[in-house]
Order: sequence, then C-alpha cells, then structure tokens
Amino acid sequence: MKGKVFVIGLGLIGGSLAMAVRHAHPEAVIVGIDLSEKNIQLSRLLGIIDDSVSSLEAGACDADLILLAVPVNETVQILAKLAELDLKRDVLISDAGSTKDKVVKAAGPLIDKGVAFIGGHPMAGSHKSGAGAAKLHLFENAFYLLTPDETVEEGKIEQLKEWLIGTRANFLVVTPSTHDRLTGVISHFPHIVASGLVKQAETYSKENELISRLAAGGFRDITRIASSSPEMWRDILLHNRDVLLVLMNDWLKEMENVKELVENEDSEEILRFFKDAKTFRDDLP
Ligand code: NAD
Repeated sequence: MKGKVFVIGLGLIGGSLAMAVRHAHPEAVIVGIDLSEKNIQLSRLLGIIDDSVSSLEAGACDADLILLAVPVNETVQILAKLAELDLKRDVLISDAGSTKDKVVKAAGPLIDKGVAFIGGHPMAGSHKSGAGAAKLHLFENAFYLLTPDETVEEGKIEQLKEWLIGTRANFLVVTPSTHDRLTGVISHFPHIVASGLVKQAETYSKENELISRLAAGGFRDITRIASSSPEMWRDILLHNRDVLLVLMNDWLKEMENVKELVENEDSEEILRFFKDAKTFRDDLP
C-alpha cells in the first residue's frame, strides 16, 4: 500500500511495527515522533523511519495511517490532542497499548468526528525497551488483538490488517472489556506476581547475599518479565485496575488455600494442586 504512516512512539513496539509496515509496503513513507532524541536517532539510523517530526500536527495531518505505540496513559492524552487536529477524512488510527477499555473510550471524540479508530494490541514483546530492541519478526505467529468501535466499518478493519500484514501476526477481534479481562489473567496479573517474587527475594537477600547468586534457573525464568519498563507497567495497572483487583482477590484466596494445605500437611491435596496445574500447563498450545 502507498501512503504516509505516522508512528507515535519509536520504542520496541513502535519500531517493530514500523519495520513490519516497511517490509510489506516498501512504497509507504514512514514518519515518526518520540520524546526521546536517542530513539529518533536510532530509528533513522536503523532505517525504521524515513523522517521524524517535532510536533503531532506535522506528522498527523496528512497521514493515512497513525499508529500509537507509547505507554497507555500517554496514548489517552495523545488521542485527545489528535481529536483537535484537522486529520485526513479517511485516516485510520490504531494503537498498540496493552489495555483497551480506557484507550478506546479516550478515542471517543475522534470516533464522534467519524475517524476510524481501531484499538490494537500485538501480543508479543520483550522486557527490553527502545528502538534498538525493535525487530521485524517480533510479532510473527503471535496473536494481534483488535478492538474496533462498533461504528468502524468492516472494510476499515481489513485495511488495517493489510497495513499490518508484515507483522505475520494472527488477528483476532474482541471487545475492549474482553481484551482487558483476558490480558489481565494471562499478562498483567502474572507481571505483578513476577515483580512480587523479585521483591521478596530482594528482602531475603538482605539476610543472606547467597540469595542473589543462587537465583538462577527457574527463578530467572519466571521473573524475566520483572525487568520490563516500570513506567509502562504502572500505566497498565492503573488502566486495568478493576480487573486486576478481582484477580488479586482470587489469588489471595488461592494462596490461603495452599497455605492451609501446607499447614495441615495435606499431602494428597498438595499433590492435586500441582497435578491440576501441570495438566493445564502441559495442555497449553
Ligand atoms: P518503549 O519504552 O520501548 O517505547 C515507548 C516509546 O514511547 C519510547 O521511545 C518513549 O520515549 C516514547 N514516548 C513516551 N511518551 C511519548 C509521547 N508523549 N510522545 C512521543 N513518544 C513518547 O515501550 P514499548 O514496549 O514499545 O511499549 C509501547 C506500547 O506498547 C505500550 O503501550 C505497551 O503497553 C504496549 N505493548 C508493549 C509490549 C511489550 O512487551 N513491551 C507488548 C505489547 C504492547
């Protein structure tokens, strides 16, 4: 496809999306903006973008596709600013944020103006940040959830998929609230647990420095995601508050249950706890 693509946020996700768009649509012109001069320079150097701009207006007003890949609180603010601009009538706007309910609500003024906003979340990533970590194949075979407002025509969704075909991701359309519940369970809440485990190890490492040296293997595996951007995760928790509060309560009940089994030395039920978890884990695709 030809046209101008404006990428807002040239980090891991924005950079990777831009690479995928460039790969599938070499004739498109890709322009980017970022608060970080380093990420702009890197994006230019790596050929991720053709050009950069220093204001939203300069990048957005003649864009055919606008992709937002900034932390979700920034997304909300930028969507409000975009709604005040004189955009192309048939512009497509999507984002890559990890939460969708608040983001799609924030796109309300744009949608009211007749702009096609399609929430998006490529379900792949890394604990690394910045344009230097961007990869063309980051989203290959991953699910890419789309949460279009009901006013968005089917043709516009197909057009967005066509723009993003270079991601080689599997697109799935869900509602914003379904998205937030699903990702709360399989991504956001596990993230809290991973960081909680690291904090617990940190506390115990004060009494014995061997903790840090021994924290290898399994501990490293299940806590890898705790190295992700703290700002990004702060925003995700604040956005998905209601879902996460329910999940935290459920988790506390589950932990109380395990605690009771251990207190009672209930060997049979402890075995069942691990067997049930193993069965579900082994059956995951
Ligand atoms: P990142 O830190 O690598 O990149 C974010 C970029 O946005 C940075 O370069 C930052 O300078 C820039 N930025 C922040 N505020 C800005 C603003 N107001 N205007 C312009 N640029 C701004 O983060 P990322 O991993 O690429 O995450 C981007 C989005 O993608 C987030 O909403 C995140 O929830 C979502 N996401 C992340 C992952 C992941 O694994 N990292 C996966 C899927 C979706």
